[in-house]
Amino acid sequence: MGTLKKSHLFYQSQNHRPVLDQARGIYMWDVDGERYLDGSSGAMVCNIGHSNEYVLEAMRRQMDKSTFGYRLHFETEPAELLASKVAALSPEGLDKVFFVSGGSEAVESAIKLARQYALASGQPKRWKVISRFPSYHGCTLGALALTGYTSLTKPFDPMMQAMPKIPAPTAYLDGLNPDDPETGRHYADMLETCILEEGPDSILAFIVEPVGGASTGALVPPVGYMERIREICSQYNILLIHDEVMTGGGRTGQFFAGEHWGVAPDILVLSKGFSAGYVPLGAMIAHNDIVDAVMAEGGFLHGFTYAGNPLACSAGLAVIEQIETQGLLKNAEDIGGVLKHRLVGLMDRYPFIGDVRGMGLLLAFELVSDRNTMRPLPKELAAFDLLVDIAYSNGLIIYSRRTRGGLEGDHFLVCPPMITTEAQVEEIMIMLIKSLDMFAIEAKL
Ligand code: PLP
Repeated sequence: MGTLKKSHLFYQSQNHRPVLDQARGIYMWDVDGERYLDGSSGAMVCNIGHSNEYVLEAMRRQMDKSTFGYRLHFETEPAELLASKVAALSPEGLDKVFFVSGGSEAVESAIKLARQYALASGQPKRWKVISRFPSYHGCTLGALALTGYTSLTKPFDPMMQAMPKIPAPTAYLDGLNPDDPETGRHYADMLETCILEEGPDSILAFIVEPVGGASTGALVPPVGYMERIREICSQYNILLIHDEVMTGGGRTGQFFAGEHWGVAPDILVLSKGFSAGYVPLGAMIAHNDIVDAVMAEGGFLHGFTYAGNPLACSAGLAVIEQIETQGLLKNAEDIGGVLKHRLVGLMDRYPFIGDVRGMGLLLAFELVSDRNTMRPLPKELAAFDLLVDIAYSNGLIIYSRRTRGGLEGDHFLVCPPMITTEAQVEEIMIMLIKSLDMFAIEAKL
């Protein structure tokens, strides 16, 4: 059904999915006419839904003019307009925008800019970037060195240089109350401990997903955590990098998730929802002082050929305009609230749902053998594949990952586009309940 007989493509693993024909709004159709509800916006990308006519029209207009202008030969209007729009949306002081074509490229760019800033400010010994475990920051080797996800990193050991990691604030696994400020402080202070152990003068930066993405399954930081992290970074003169590749662009109900806590990083990276899947695009946004210092020393020794091309930037600009004119931040918050409430309600019906978490439309649930101890389901069950396949057969796309750094546990992201309506939440729930019922039978739970 809709699969190609022979393919020369290869991916991370064997792909057994149908061939996509078209997509509109929150729905997608394969070449056999089967319909799927995109309950994960692809990989938390298609925030404003598929085939948005306003964005397509903006792209068509740009395509008729030019699709590429190499950055060393031309400035382009779409790149200038998008950069000033992003700077206006970014925290105060973060006015300098560097375009890339994806999340990993944005993270690489942040590491290199931070490194050049350390050199420019006379601190050449600072090179370590602390991150968290679990975390995901990309698949290129630099970004992978920061990624805390054993099954993805181990095969490449020894990679560049393994970077220090502190535990992610998984209060729900550790039996701690995320609403207690002590919990936030407990996890944030692990950063200070790590800095002291590694030697403060060797630390360049700390990178954090404000709301965890695929690695932790929509993990929301405990109260006070983000603020304390900021404090510690400032105290030790360490750059704070917010990885907003998944959260940036409104999915949590604010354009940048960091806004929920009123903390500003020194460098911010975004991609996915930035161009919402219309064309590859990402950005690194840095504080003026950092960029000024690096420019004063001769410039940033970095750049990708396709970066900032006018077609991608025209799409990015139109996506932000749609987020604003359609009030999609508010919708992400409101509909996210409705959907989260319905997901939490599933815990009464299915004892094997151990946790529901997230904010806005970045939501996830985790499956376990025992809710009290959060003991994971048996590995052999491969629940993360099984439930996704069942949901797929019922016309619902959800996104799964092994949790706990890729070692064990199964979580599922339910993150439909920010245009989703309340009626469509009901549709998602009907398909999800049907899928969980079938899963319970198959998994003998
Ligand atoms: N950072 C985060 C938080 C991500 O979620 C991802 C991708 O899932 C990346 C970085 C890497 O982005 P890309 O796959 O576009 O390279």
